[in-house]
Amino acid sequence: MKKIVALICGLSIIVACNKNGDKSQEKKSKLSGMKIAMVKENARGIINNTKSPHVKLKSIDIGDCQWTEGFWADKWKRAEETMIPYMGTLLKGDIGHGLNNFKIAAGLKEGEHQGWWWHDGDFYKWMEASIYIYAVNKDEKIVQEMDEIINIIGKAQQENGYLSTPIIIREDLEPFSNRKYHELYNSGHLLTSACIHHRVTGRTNFLDIAIKHADYLYDLFVPIKPELERFGFNQTQIMGLVELYRTVNDERYLELAEQFINLRGTYDIKDTTATVGYPIGDMVQERVPLRDETEAVGHAVLALYYYAGAADVYAETGEKALIDALNRLWDNVTNKKMYVTGAIGQTHYGRSSRLDKIEEGFIDEYMMPNMTAYNETCANICNSMFNYRMLTLTGDSKHGDIMELVLHNSALSGIGIGGKDYYYSNPLRKIEGALDYDKMNVEFPERQPYLECFCCPPNLVRTIAKSPAWAYSKTENGIAVNLYGGNRLKTTLMDGSTIALSQKSNYPWDGVVEIHIEESKSEPFEILLRIPAWAEGSKAKVNDEIFENIAAGNFFRYERSWKTGDIIYLNMPLEAKLIEGHPRIEEVRNQVAVKRGPVVYALESPDLPEGTDITSVYISNSEKLKPVHKPDVLGGVTTLETDLLIRKDHLTNMYNEVNRPKLETYSTQLIPYYTWSNRGQGEMTVFMPIIWD
Ligand SMILES: [Zn+2]
Repeated sequence: MKKIVALICGLSIIVACNKNGDKSQEKKSKLSGMKIAMVKENARGIINNTKSPHVKLKSIDIGDCQWTEGFWADKWKRAEETMIPYMGTLLKGDIGHGLNNFKIAAGLKEGEHQGWWWHDGDFYKWMEASIYIYAVNKDEKIVQEMDEIINIIGKAQQENGYLSTPIIIREDLEPFSNRKYHELYNSGHLLTSACIHHRVTGRTNFLDIAIKHADYLYDLFVPIKPELERFGFNQTQIMGLVELYRTVNDERYLELAEQFINLRGTYDIKDTTATVGYPIGDMVQERVPLRDETEAVGHAVLALYYYAGAADVYAETGEKALIDALNRLWDNVTNKKMYVTGAIGQTHYGRSSRLDKIEEGFIDEYMMPNMTAYNETCANICNSMFNYRMLTLTGDSKHGDIMELVLHNSALSGIGIGGKDYYYSNPLRKIEGALDYDKMNVEFPERQPYLECFCCPPNLVRTIAKSPAWAYSKTENGIAVNLYGGNRLKTTLMDGSTIALSQKSNYPWDGVVEIHIEESKSEPFEILLRIPAWAEGSKAKVNDEIFENIAAGNFFRYERSWKTGDIIYLNMPLEAKLIEGHPRIEEVRNQVAVKRGPVVYALESPDLPEGTDITSVYISNSEKLKPVHKPDVLGGVTTLETDLLIRKDHLTNMYNEVNRPKLETYSTQLIPYYTWSNRGQGEMTVFMPIIWD
């Protein structure tokens, strides 16, 4: 079987063609002497779903779209120039110690493992981010550096394929003896990162390590031994295995991916030697089989990686029970457990509705604390990853809306404007002195230049780095626009014809988007534009043809014979709106948030008179919210200028008899939520009590 894999893998390289359909130019890596050839076009997506039978929207190839101007171009540039190099300095040095761990495991360096059990996985995420950057900027130094690192990783890998440095370094620990060692998390990111590296560079050195490791996993977990049945709980390996299956076409990897879904909920929930030391049951989504589950429970990152992996499996198998469960869970997350910022995971510590102890995750429906909201950056990103997959499976634009919501709010809030400091949790309110941060291990009063648990920062930078490849999808005969922002796309449609277009936009600060067709086939094909659910009253114009009041919450579809010079104009009204929660969210009763387009706004201390408590501020339903673009503020943002009301009396008792309070008007601004905590420490709130005229 393994020989066949190698043959298939080799075949995919031998027959690889470049963009012009020619045999690609093979070259040899100086370091390894391996043959390098471009992977076939339409097989280089973030998720390579071109041949997946149950997918409606297919990936564009990584590198086919590049941000050119505006919001995401700025963020991407910051990732290229600052975020990823800075993070590399941390991880390759003694602070992050990520590369050191591989060197020690490889016998190239003396020392002990440092960082959490899953630190290898976080290092692979940084590598993945670097490769996305290379896909656009083609800086060969990135590939050379990756070659050197991959060489070390290869030396660290054990002869049988095992690869997780904490266990390799510590001789007192056995592989897969306790699931708290998170070995499969490291596996998942290894497989994903290696597949992306292969797709972008054509190299096989990382992929070979991944295949050797996946073969080891297959032999270990198929057929399953009782002592191993509960290991697949931190489920990045499901996504990684499906991606490896798509890369080398070995069905064993898909079988193993599905195995990690099928095992859940099939055994007694009690501690064993393999589980002791980490919460069990709903915390790790093992109490109920996925296909029967009705509620999102447990650790939010584990849950959403699980759902994202299951979506990848469904893309290949088309099993109805799986997509039904995913739709049900999407509805539960989105409509009963998600914050207005797209963030998920309401609490650090709590219990599931079935009374299992949980950490960093979901609690009861509609229970949405603001100040103690956990909302791990990774969980929010996982929400967008799950929604990206659901978008491809269903073609339903509501999933694009959630991706956009997360990206513009609860993902970006995880990193500072300068790109060198991080938040792990993303609450919706901060009150000075209310929390004892000294007692907390991942919540901080301000962003930190390094986090000991380093899962979130590389997850976020790889997301920014790959965001252009999320911006478009291919339909059967056309292209769908998922995300807006200045960019240029040149890709091949599913029939092999070329399309080139450029998007001009100052989104999300401005709702006007222009799409210029630069090259296309002469036969008719469709272009789909995602009209967000908030964009009621949107208008479009295709050359001189006008479309008024396009339905919001849908893709606007237009099919015609396009030609070079055609222009699509889209105008989404960007009014600032007050948003209230469902009446069952007690924490926001009689309070409102402010949202303009996809951007959620916040009020922060620097915009209030000194000494003002954030909880003293009220907002009136009748005050104007005036957008003012400030290129020099917080990295370039549109703020909302408005008059707020500040209550002058201070309540100190637990309960107080009500007297009409004195309220003073104060002219100030609201800032985009993702930019909070870039102007020193202070207070912040997303929701404010409303005063009705
Ligand atoms: Zn994280």
